[in-house]
Amino acid sequence: MLLQRVLFLPLVTQWNRHATQNLIPRFPAVRLTGFRSNSSLPGAKEQTLIAVKPDGVQRRLVGQIIRRFEQKGFKLVGLKMLQVSEELLSQHYCQLTRKPFYPSLVKYMTSGPVVVMVWEGQDVVQSSRLMVGPTNPAAAPAGTVRGDFSLHVSRNVVHASDSLEGAQREIQLWFQGKDLVKWDCWDQTLTCEE
Ligand code: UDP
Ligand code: MG
Repeated sequence: MLLQRVLFLPLVTQWNRHATQNLIPRFPAVRLTGFRSNSSLPGAKEQTLIAVKPDGVQRRLVGQIIRRFEQKGFKLVGLKMLQVSEELLSQHYCQLTRKPFYPSLVKYMTSGPVVVMVWEGQDVVQSSRLMVGPTNPAAAPAGTVRGDFSLHVSRNVVHASDSLEGAQREIQLWFQGKDLVKWDCWDQTLTCEE
């Protein structure tokens, strides 16, 4: 037991620290009043933007990534494939345009089509960041999308909104309201408390 603690605890602590760095500072107290859909589903529901980046599409990972979100119990409410323009990308990554890696990020993100999705569900913003893993795949644990499918920060397969505000901004950027589908999932009372 002691041995388990000695071996396992530092790993957990390290992952928690990374996950916390990724999530907490960007998770303000507006959580309860954050971006919510008009869905008739019970409980508080959030929406987030997930995108399979060009490397993920080229490597035929779209199905496996969708599967993870379905398996978790989230609901797909928007989906499209497109070739991203530099203009749209600069709005999407507006906080990164001055970073030294931005030119190569643009080249990468415009190198082929992306598949963009809106997923809905309880705490979907935070959960999907955990499912996707840290930005740098080298630090991403096995079991996360980036941990399982990628090894370098410049080719990390997938995007996930990092906060409720970010999700709202990104969803409005990539989708028109009419493109998001309101529908009731038959298993909703099995995956969430009423
Ligand atoms: N990125 C990169 N080099 C870096 C940092 C980021 O190429 O040193 C890319 C990477 O594709 C990342 C994206 O820029 O996913 C956006 O960066 P951000 O810090 O928002 O990470 P994310 O939210 O995607 O985890
Ligand atoms: Mg980001």
